[in-house]
Amino acid sequence: MRITCPHCGERALTRTSKRPLPTFYEVFAQCTNPHCGWGGKFLVEAVLTYSPSLAPDADVSIPMAAPARQALLAQLND
Ligand SMILES: [Zn+2]
Repeated sequence: MRITCPHCGERALTRTSKRPLPTFYEVFAQCTNPHCGWGGKFLVEAVLTYSPSLAPDADVSIPMAAPARQALLAQLND
């Protein structure tokens, strides 16, 4: 995933990341523009499922996107 600086738009490099939950990351990034120098934290979260896992973890619950849910329901009704 390419991360860009929210201030100058140049590339920001990931310095470290933490994964406190299976669906959630905290990414600490640093802008590569020497004339900017911003550093900060981004949050990345899995919020919708478009294609369900073939090896689902029972402790992970990510809502289905409406079109994917309708397609699965249609397959079940066939
Ligand atoms: Zn920047």
